[in-house]
Amino acid sequence: MSFTVSTPEPATQAAPQAAPAKARGKKVYCQRDDWYFDPRYTDGACPICGWSPPAANLQAAPAWLVRAQQLPWDVIFLILLFVVLVVMGVLVGMAAHYKISPPNGG
Ligand SMILES: [Zn+2]
Repeated sequence: MSFTVSTPEPATQAAPQAAPAKARGKKVYCQRDDWYFDPRYTDGACPICGWSPPAANLQAAPAWLVRAQQLPWDVIFLILLFVVLVVMGVLVGMAAHYKISPPNGG
């Protein structure tokens, strides 16, 4: 009695190459998974198998995005939160007819 067992393809197969003819726009094609993906949103790697396309097929992030990522957004949002809270406090004080007296008395 003989039977055949179908085994999955070995993992040592050749790394899939990006198809430049089929790559449209910023998408990259992974031949192993038959899948188009945008490396900008997947850390430059295929989301299924982790294959990374050659750097030539990767597009650099636009300059405004690089500049925006360098800004300290946590500090900016903290300052923005402080300003919003002060404005809210002033608005609530005005609604309650609370007089904000200057420090030198008035
Ligand atoms: Zn893949």
